[in-house]
Formats: sequence, structure tokens, C-alpha cells
Amino acid sequence: MSLKARLIEHIRENGPMTVAQFMGACLYDPEDGYYATRPSIGGENADFLTAPEASQMFGELIGLWCAHEWDVLGKPAFNLIELGPGRGVLMQDMLRATRRIEGFHDASNIVLVETSAPMRDAQAERIDNAEWALRLEDAPPGASLIVANEFLDCMPIRQFFHGEDGWHEKLVGLDEADQLAFGLSTPLPAPDSEDEIGAVREIAPALDSFMYELERRLHEAPGRALFIDYGYVTPEGADTLQALKNHKKVDPIEAPGEADLTAHVDFARVAQLAETAGLTVHGPIGQGQFLRALGLELRAETLSKANPQHAERLAREVHRLTHADQMGALFKVICISSPNTPPPAGF
Ligand code: SAH
Repeated sequence: MSLKARLIEHIRENGPMTVAQFMGACLYDPEDGYYATRPSIGGENADFLTAPEASQMFGELIGLWCAHEWDVLGKPAFNLIELGPGRGVLMQDMLRATRRIEGFHDASNIVLVETSAPMRDAQAERIDNAEWALRLEDAPPGASLIVANEFLDCMPIRQFFHGEDGWHEKLVGLDEADQLAFGLSTPLPAPDSEDEIGAVREIAPALDSFMYELERRLHEAPGRALFIDYGYVTPEGADTLQALKNHKKVDPIEAPGEADLTAHVDFARVAQLAETAGLTVHGPIGQGQFLRALGLELRAETLSKANPQHAERLAREVHRLTHADQMGALFKVICISSPNTPPPAGF
């Protein structure tokens, strides 16, 4: 039975489900979920192209950032943790760039936090000496440097719609033909607000629980976590649920499990949760600003001098990673650190 058929049956028996339940099933269903079966990142027929897949310089700079922050932490033995490593390209570039930094590799225990079996296989092809964990809390205790690119955007969201008569939750139910369809709950017993009629607000309960785990880790032992993702600081009232298949936007409800579903990250919420928990927050700032501060242009220049035949491609990559009309502004970087850690590089 297809995931779609199972979802239809589930709704027929139990009533409509929240967008978060739907998104969770589409991404993580053990049999037919997108990440369990057909994640497609990078390469020609990929559903989407991420920053590390677009340019090796991205991972190189983040690797050097980690080495610098390791130095700041006093060069401890530590866990070098990546959340949702995809094909493992980011970690591979990070490790290559830091090869010659004395003591860094020896001090690091590489932990890849990944739920998807096919992704783990892809990661194992690129990274030799890693251990895997299903969740952050399964990573060994101790000091840690954590990186995550396009990880938080996978956290399933609930959506709320502001109508004439107040707030409603967006739900996934069945239409007259018994097909999956978005609909609205009856008005919620929630106070009305100034938001425009038609505005959509989103919350990500799984993000909140993830943040709790992160907070625990960064309180127990020194460390930093660097998140790069697309998202907002002030909600724009827009519906940010997006489904991508072969680089094209498709209707999220059309083919459950076959497209990558994501939502924009609420960076204000991430920052607020971390600050309330007593952690230190830097950013969010635009990815362009961050990469330039870490010396992206200089890195491109050095590589271009060594390989003039690649100069044009490298310039295109810099543009793609940093320009405001590309990944430079919508993509943001936030760093969350243990209490009393000095400011990180790049902010
Ligand atoms: N960071 C990579 C891949 C981004 S796609 C890149 O930038 O190219 C999201 C990745 O996170 C995939 O590897 C997916 O399998 C993984 N993932 C999604 N949700 C997860 C979760 N809850 N826990 C662990 N890994 C998750």
C-alpha cells in the first residue's frame, strides 16, 4: 500500500491530521518516507542543491571555522558532530581543509547524526572514521563542535491560518473524491491578533524538543553549534511549506514521500529558546556576510591562481553562496555556544 493510500486510510479512520504529522510521515515514514527511501541531494538529477554541494569552499571555510573555535575552547578532545550530513560532502571538505592543523584531527571524534539509511551509506563512502547516531542525545558526552546545514528546515511544522473569525489550524483531510486536501480546523480558542486576514503562522514542535537537547549538551560540556539554513527572523505571515522534486516546486500534497518537504526556520524562536536557557547566541546573520567574514573571496582567489582554468566557476560559486539574490541573504547563520564562551569567528 502506498504512503498516500495509507494516509488516506488513516485520515478516514482518525480524522484530519496536522501539517506536522503529514510532513513527518512524508519525510520519515520508515517504508516510504522521502529520507528513508529516495533522498536526492547533489548531482544532476537531484531534487535540490545545497551549499556544500554547490562549492567545496563552503565546507573548507566551515572546517577552518571549527579548527579556530577548537583553539578558542582550549584544544580539548571533542566530538565533531554534524547533523543531517546528506551525502557527507560538507564533512569531507571540512576534514580535508583541516588536515594540516596540528592536533585537530587527533582530538576529534567524528559523529554523524543521521536518520536515513541510504544517506548513512553515502556518508560512509566519503568519511572513514566516523560513528553514527540517530539523534543528538545519542552522541557521546563531552565537549562538542556541532555543524548543521539545511537540517532545521526538516523539522515538521504546524500551520495556523488567520481568517475573518480568528485563528484556525491548517489540516490535511480528504476532499469529496476522498483525495488528500488541505483544510482548516474550526476557529481555535485563541485570542485574535493584529495579523492580516490570510496570514499564516508556523510553529515547529520538533524544533523545540531538539533545542532542549542542544541546550542540555552545551550546558554539560563546552561547545558551539553552527546552524546554516533558510529562514526568517520576523515572520512574514507566509506559508513556507515547500515541496521540491527535480529542482521544481510541486504541490506538497500531491505525492507523499516522493518530494523533499521543508519549511523556513524561525530563527527568532531558535535564538529565544537558546537565550532563555542561558546559552550565548550570535547571529543570525546572512550566509553571504558570514562567508565573506571567513575569507571566502580570498580563498577563491588563491584557488583561482593555482587553477586559472577554474577561475570562472569559482567566481560563479562565490556569487551563488553570497549574493543577496542567491543564497546570501535568505540563508542565515546562527551560532549557539555554552555560557561564557568568547564570540565566534565570522559574527
Ligand atoms: N547537510 C546536507 C544535507 C541536507 S538534507 C547538505 O547540506 O547537503 C537534510 C539531511 O538531514 C539529510 O541527510 C536527512 O536525511 C537528514 N535528516 C533529516 N531529518 C533528520 C533528523 N530528524 N535527524 C537526523 N537527520 C535528519
